[in-house]
Amino acid sequence: MIMNSRKSIPKAIETNILVNSKRRCALCFGLKGDLEEKKGQIAHLDQNRSNNSEDNLAFLCFDHHDEYDSKTSQSKGLTIGEVKHYRDMLYDEIESRLKFPYSENSDQDDKRRAHDQKIFDRANEIISEKNLKIFLEALQCNDLYMEKDLSQLIDFHTFFLEVGNQFLSHELKTRASQLNQSIDELVCFLGLHFFQFPRGEVNEKNFKFALYPNLNWEREGDYNLESFQKYRDFQKQLYACCSQVEISYKEYRIAIKEILFC
Ligand SMILES: [Zn+2]
Repeated sequence: MIMNSRKSIPKAIETNILVNSKRRCALCFGLKGDLEEKKGQIAHLDQNRSNNSEDNLAFLCFDHHDEYDSKTSQSKGLTIGEVKHYRDMLYDEIESRLKFPYSENSDQDDKRRAHDQKIFDRANEIISEKNLKIFLEALQCNDLYMEKDLSQLIDFHTFFLEVGNQFLSHELKTRASQLNQSIDELVCFLGLHFFQFPRGEVNEKNFKFALYPNLNWEREGDYNLESFQKYRDFQKQLYACCSQVEISYKEYRIAIKEILFC
């Protein structure tokens, strides 16, 4: 039965399945995170052995293939939707871990790389590495930021949320989303704990915001221990948010360098 079914799969499609899965079982991976190479077969997910469309096929280990094929007699067997989901997750994982994101000499890959390059360039125009560094340094040295610098960072964050601005490389997409999450946390913190300083500034271009000026005796606060301790606690949280952005930005740029400029 299985021999017949495998025979009927066109060679090119069979090769795609084997190469994309690298003979990792979609269910071993999806259910247990197991990425070991397995002995197995290509399964027809809708149980129809003449449906050889790529979307209907997945490489499964022998055990999972048996389990999946026998599911019709059980009430709570694995569903086709589940298996396809795990298979797609597996392909993404393989793409990011086990092979280069773009292989050489392929038109399609050149286009994907060019797309990702464009996304990076546009994001980098919104806030450069240097400007981000200046912004984070002001926060960590003076507990202060300029309004216009924050709006650059928010524009950068918003840019990556737009559907058209997603990286195609799985690795870059993951890094950008981690970076965006840490920026989000920092921006939320600034929104909650920073206040215009000095108050009464009229020139909008110079709007500055400081961490609780009323708790800082060098700004508007009184000189007392309780305020000082509160202030120190907020400082610690601020610096933790900043260093998280620094770390995720660094990882993002390393991935950019490895993937786009290698
Ligand atoms: Zn398996």
